[in-house]
Order: sequence, then structure tokens, then C-alpha cells
Amino acid sequence: MTKSNWRTVVVGVILALPGCSLRAPANPNTDPGIPLDDLAPASASGYRWPKHGLTVSVDPQGCNLLPSEVLGAAAESLGIWEGLVDLRFVLVPVGSQADITVQFGAIGGYYGVAAYPGPLEPSVTVRLSNAIPWTSGLRDRGEPPADLVTVLAHEVGHAIGLAHTGQDNLMATYYTGSHREFRADVAGIAIGLYGPSLAR
Ligand SMILES: [Zn+2]
Repeated sequence: MTKSNWRTVVVGVILALPGCSLRAPANPNTDPGIPLDDLAPASASGYRWPKHGLTVSVDPQGCNLLPSEVLGAAAESLGIWEGLVDLRFVLVPVGSQADITVQFGAIGGYYGVAAYPGPLEPSVTVRLSNAIPWTSGLRDRGEPPADLVTVLAHEVGHAIGLAHTGQDNLMATYYTGSHREFRADVAGIAIGLYGPSLAR
């Protein structure tokens, strides 16, 4: 299935809501899906936050899930990283000056977009699609609704300096359903940047 066909499926789902039955991709076993975002492959951005405590604001407006579900998924996403590296995230109210700002909006065909941190960037904004239906549950396939925890954790990975690696893992280029696991190489890079989690 091509990228444009995938988009057609999503549009069809949106138009049919609520009460529609979701369509599966024509061939989910061979379709790699569309890239989660458009950040270039690299081992790491070469920059890390110069601190271990980061503030995060999450605005659930534009997401099909309840605000409480969005915040719960965000907490789970951040916890995935807190369980690996020595970073502590603190959720702050929307509108606060946060290190990482999470918003839903129109971002073309991508699930999410993010930026790497950098010395000239006082903050990083993560944008998630407001056109893709999300779920707070686990998904074993790439078709909508998309697993919010997986995609947000992936984008937060970029926001702390990590790049894409391999397939079928949290930092893979393509979204193929739920992933909570790291490939050993990206885990090693992340621990190299921030040190191992003290919560273990
Ligand atoms: Zn990505």
C-alpha cells in the first residue's frame, strides 16, 4: 500500500466517525507504513539537555481521547524513558514555559513531529497529528487508531536527542503498532547521554 492510499484510509475513518468500523491496510504484513516523522537518521543529535529534570506541558486539545486519557498516556510515555535513563519529567500546566511542549495539530501525513534539543533551542515542541484517531490501548498493527504512548514516547526520544534506529522498536523510522522496547544500540546511546535510570 502506498503512502497516499494510507492517507485515504485515514480520511475515510475520520469521515465515518463515529460508529464506523476501522479498515485495515490492504497488506499490513508488507506495508511498512509511513514514517512517524521526518527527522533524518543519525545515531544521535550530538546534543543532550544539560540537566536531568525536564518540564513537560501536554495540551490534549485536538486529540480524540479524553484529556485524562491523554495525560495518562503522556505519563506512561515519559515513564518509559525515566525507566531507562537518569531523566525526571515533571508535567506542568498548559501555557507554562516548559522544556518540552506537546500539542496536537495539523502536521500532514505524519503521526508526530519533533525536534532535537540544541544549544540554541531553549525548548522543544512535539506536535502530534489531530487527524489520526488515537488510542490509549495497545495495538499490534500499524493501522489506526494509533497507540499514543508509543508515538509520544518516540517523539520524546527525539526531544532528548535520540534518532531513528532499525525497525519494530520504539525509535524505528516507521510506526508499526505498539512498541515499548529499545534496541540495545539506542538504549546505549541514551544511557551515554544521561546515565542509567536511578529508578531501577
Ligand atoms: Zn521519529
